[in-house]
Amino acid sequence: MWSLPDINRLNEEAVKNATKLNKAVKTGYLDGIRIKCDWCDKPAEYTYPWYDVFSDVPKGIIGLCEEHDQYFGNPSEGFFTCDDCGKTFITNYTWENYYTFTDDGDQLCLNCYFDREISRKDNWITSAEDVTWKRVKASRHLIPVGGKHWNEHLEFIGNVEFDNLSGEKVTGFSSTSTKEDGLDDLRDLVEKALLSHKKCILILDARYQCTVSIGVYVKK
Ligand SMILES: [Zn+2]
Ligand SMILES: [Zn+2]
Repeated sequence: MWSLPDINRLNEEAVKNATKLNKAVKTGYLDGIRIKCDWCDKPAEYTYPWYDVFSDVPKGIIGLCEEHDQYFGNPSEGFFTCDDCGKTFITNYTWENYYTFTDDGDQLCLNCYFDREISRKDNWITSAEDVTWKRVKASRHLIPVGGKHWNEHLEFIGNVEFDNLSGEKVTGFSSTSTKEDGLDDLRDLVEKALLSHKKCILILDARYQCTVSIGVYVKK
């Protein structure tokens, strides 16, 4: 079973390493050793610093030779390049992928996707009556487990977890909860949000192996 790495520790280590990695991308040498292709032993002709969606510091370097550059992916297997910010990201640490494809075919990191979607007026709801199953199913995956980017813009009101396939609300092993229970809970959260704010947004804020979490958020 995979679990989410300790994001905070990972980031502390990355900050310490960032200068070294940035230099290595420029020089082609890391700790005095020529960076090699990740797929063969040839010297890397192309180097890419890679990031995760949890911070702005690079976590490592991808080295690729002429032949393997962009051969197994963009630029390599297990990584993607965001069409909005242009940075290279690791695709996932757990079950949750850190990218999405938009309707126009762009591949975006979840942080850029978040920025795009919260700026769209039709994603915001102004009444608990707007909380339908169709709406819930359409809520976008904009926040990864452990993500922090959203926190600069939104405030979390509460969330409900649903079974990925059936849509039934997840409460425990002997659960008899239905989809309707989950919807009612979400409507209550929306009502709570609308007491102090004009509008709120439903966001798929975690994807686990079998469940998804739908959170209610308001603007800060
Ligand atoms: Zn190679
Ligand atoms: Zn991006």
